[in-house]
Order: sequence, then structure tokens, then C-alpha cells
Amino acid sequence: MAELLEIDGLDVRYRVVGGWRALLAPRGSRFVDAVLDASLHVAAGETYGLVGESGSGKTSLARAIIGLVPHQAGSIRFRGSPTGGSDRAMRPLRRDIGMMFQDPVASLSPRLTVGRLLAEPFRIHAIPGRDRAAEARRLIAMVGLDAGFLRMYPHQLSGGQARRVGLARALALDPALVIADEPTAGLDVSVQGEALNLLGALQAEHGMGLLIVTHNLPVIRHISDRLGIMYLGRIVEQGPTRAIFRRPAHPYTAGLIAAVPQPDPDIKRDAPPLEGEIPSLRQRPTGCEFHTRCRFATDMCRSVAPDYRLIAPDRGVRCHFPLG
Ligand code: SF4
Repeated sequence: MAELLEIDGLDVRYRVVGGWRALLAPRGSRFVDAVLDASLHVAAGETYGLVGESGSGKTSLARAIIGLVPHQAGSIRFRGSPTGGSDRAMRPLRRDIGMMFQDPVASLSPRLTVGRLLAEPFRIHAIPGRDRAAEARRLIAMVGLDAGFLRMYPHQLSGGQARRVGLARALALDPALVIADEPTAGLDVSVQGEALNLLGALQAEHGMGLLIVTHNLPVIRHISDRLGIMYLGRIVEQGPTRAIFRRPAHPYTAGLIAAVPQPDPDIKRDAPPLEGEIPSLRQRPTGCEFHTRCRFATDMCRSVAPDYRLIAPDRGVRCHFPLG
């Protein structure tokens, strides 16, 4: 499969202390590293699930792809060309990459009707020769809502309806890649599956690549081809979804999977669910950053950071002692 998106060695750093406080703060404490040395790729037609707890850096990574936050190291290539530069330079890229934001209502202008919101991408990108009202009707039908919704305002929508409108907007310009940031957040369990099935069905129909960012491993298990597991800004395990669920190699992944209800008796579930809190990004543990929660931690783990290494042609892990 042709690679659509290639991310290599990405670092994203935020300034957390500004103004006069920055003059007093030690240099190292003015910034936090939200993403460190992250590498992944997404092919056309593929669904990649980027999973991690809150604070793992997955949303920062997603936002860096479309230039909403800058990256300080590494590279992002889309269809073989490096991305980056000014807002103007990023505009063509944003036409080819649709983004579903985490908070759908907050990401939609409250003053515009759904019809205007769906027509907006055609105006922003100055797409000629389109009947924007007809496009809005096409898009609202595509996500399973009737035309009456075109007259409504975002605050009149339920969480599920707002997500559908966000998806319709992300798909408006027929992008090659869609990034969905927590597409099921805030939805009842009963409609989470519905939202993901719709995403999967539209992907199958349009053939775009799909990068789903979520803390919710069970919800993407059945629609993602490959998974990347993030912890404190680093990808600690990557590989085919089925292989990871059958035999997780990183103790963090094993802990996440242990918390998922397993209908398949063949799937290993001998790890206990995760305990303890994710450490602060401002106080990263020494050595392996997962050692404070890992029941296999040794002295070596506490002092030496493991490199990311391949354990199969299509699987990698960042652990000194991968699970067998
Ligand atoms: Fe656990 Fe050590 Fe592996 Fe880190 S390197 S995940 S502490 S076994």
C-alpha cells in the first residue's frame, strides 16, 4: 500500500511558563515535551488507531500533522512531500486532510447553521463550480441526518448529531486522510459503535486513510488495521491490531488490554489492569518512563531508557524485556 502519511522522529514541545515567570524559571522547566521521537505511517485506505491515556501526547501529535501546533524535531511527510511552513503554505494540505475535532460543538461556529458550516470548506478553499447548498445536502445525507438539520445551529444538536456534522465537514472536500480525535468521546456506549461503524463505512466507500486518536482501546479494536500505543509522548508499541490484542509485547499495552472485556477465549489476558497514575510530563521518570507502573521493572529499567526496536517486520516495542 502507498504511504499517505509518514512521521519520523517527531518532537512537539510546549512552553508552559510565559511572561515574567519565564525569566525566573529554570530553562528546563519552561517547556514540556508532549511528543518525543514519534514515528508512524498511515497508508491509503488504512485505519491506524493511536491509543493512550489522557496526557499521552496523542492529540498533540494529531494537531502537529495539520500544523495546528509546531514540531521542533523530526519530519512529517504527506504523499511523499514534507509538510510545514506558514498557515498559507499549509492550506492545500488541510484540503487533503480532514480533521474531526475532539469537541465537535466547540469546533463549530455557534453563529452558523449546519448548512452554512457544511458549505464553509468550499468557500475557505475557494472551490469553484460547486453548488454549495447542494453539497451541504449531499454531506448531511452522507452522515445519515435528514435535510432539516441544515437549518439548525450547533447548540441544538445532540453529541452524536454534532459528531456526524463534524464528520461531514471533515469529508466535505473528499480528503485523502481523515484524522478523528476521540470520535466517540462524550457519546453513550449505545451510539459509540454507531459512530465508528459510520466512520468505517465511509472509509470503505471513499478509500481514505484514517487516523483515529483515542483513549478507548475497545472502541477502535474492530475498525483499526494497526495500532500505535502512546505513553508520556512516546510510541511504546506498534503493530497490527489483531497481533497486539493476541499477544501484547509492552507491559503498558498488556495492562490496557487487560481492562478490555474479551469475548475471544484465545486472547491472552494474564496481565492485571493498569494501576497508578500517569506521571506528570514535567517530572518524567528516569530510565524507562513506564517503570513506576510496571510490575516487571528492574534496576536497569529504572536507569536506562529502552530504544524502540522491531520484534517482527511489522511490530516494534520500546521495552528492555518485551512480553513473549
Ligand atoms: Fe517495564 Fe522495564 Fe519494559 Fe519499561 S523497560 S516496560 S519498566 S519491563
